[in-house]
Amino acid sequence: MAQIIIENVRKDFGSFNAVKSSSFTVEDGEFFMLLGPSGCGKTTTLRMMAGLELPTSGEIYIDGEEVGQKPASQRDIAFVFQMFALYPHMNVGKNISYPLLSQGMPKAQVKKKVHEIAEILGITEILNKPVGSLSGGDRQRVALGRAIVRDPKAFFMDEPLGALDAEFREHMSEELRALHDRIGATTVYVTHDQLEAMQMGDKIVVMNHGSIEQFGVPQDIYDWPASKFVAQFLGSPPMNLLEFNGMVDIGAKQVRMGDITMDIPPSLEGANGALSFGIRPEHVKLDDSARYRGRVKAVEYLGTTQIVLLDTPNGVLKARLPSSDPVTIGATTGMIFDPRTITLFDSQTGKALR
Ligand code: ATP
Repeated sequence: MAQIIIENVRKDFGSFNAVKSSSFTVEDGEFFMLLGPSGCGKTTTLRMMAGLELPTSGEIYIDGEEVGQKPASQRDIAFVFQMFALYPHMNVGKNISYPLLSQGMPKAQVKKKVHEIAEILGITEILNKPVGSLSGGDRQRVALGRAIVRDPKAFFMDEPLGALDAEFREHMSEELRALHDRIGATTVYVTHDQLEAMQMGDKIVVMNHGSIEQFGVPQDIYDWPASKFVAQFLGSPPMNLLEFNGMVDIGAKQVRMGDITMDIPPSLEGANGALSFGIRPEHVKLDDSARYRGRVKAVEYLGTTQIVLLDTPNGVLKARLPSSDPVTIGATTGMIFDPRTITLFDSQTGKALR
């Protein structure tokens, strides 16, 4: 097991700066997510942590040892790729035992270890089967078996479930998390899927254009996004962002928008009134007596809940309501927001004001 510290790590490919100076710590035993859209630099960050790419500058510590310029083979780590690279001509047992045999471990010990791992992964029954005959899920289990059999200090996974269909993906992500909880090894996991990151991660780093936008536990990132980017990257549908101007009453140290009056956070003073008002769809309540009003434009039925699209004076706002709530398209209604669930952003910088 291992603590991993990233300190001012930067990566340039020629003149292109793929990862800007980044710092964060992965604690021992954590399931740690690198989350962001395509091209944001998450894979490059993971590859630098694993030793598959060397940083242009900065330091990487694994268990207190600076390994930034060391190759993967000298870092005692294991990598699980999206396209689970197994040896097709070998059976399951041989695929899992290969890393140990190539390290020179005695055969009897290898056999014992492979059976232990097969037990953990629930693949004892298929140890003698050729990998070519297996389903996607079983292949993924074998790939995991091959990664964990060496007891590495840390695991690095780059979208390991990316090739699976949605239903199976959810099942495997639960299995992967349960496996991690059983063996407790530090795991760093790359994904572009915000739901996967929130479901599986102890901590999340959200990246955008090579920079860290936010770092923390899933709930804090979801509830208190540090930027408009994070507010819109997490959540389905994402956080509503309504742009408004000139509604900040600096003198009274309050923000007013329709019925809502909020105390101004100290950082907001001098923000000049160009703000974005952020609220998650599940925090919008409809109340006919409210002064802030909108017109129901459309309704998306989602089973137990429905997403109601409202035309407001500041743009379209989405509310997530129980499907049993009666809603009429074309009707006008009032909206209320609990001030504790609102995040304000500086419209220009996109940063949250606290
Ligand atoms: P994806 O999910 O699409 O892989 P990502 O967030 O993992 O995206 P990276 O693969 O880290 O992003 O790539 C970040 C940026 O660096 C991209 O613009 C990519 O084109 C560029 N890049 C990555 N590897 C190289 C390379 N070897 N040479 C040049 N540019 C590269």
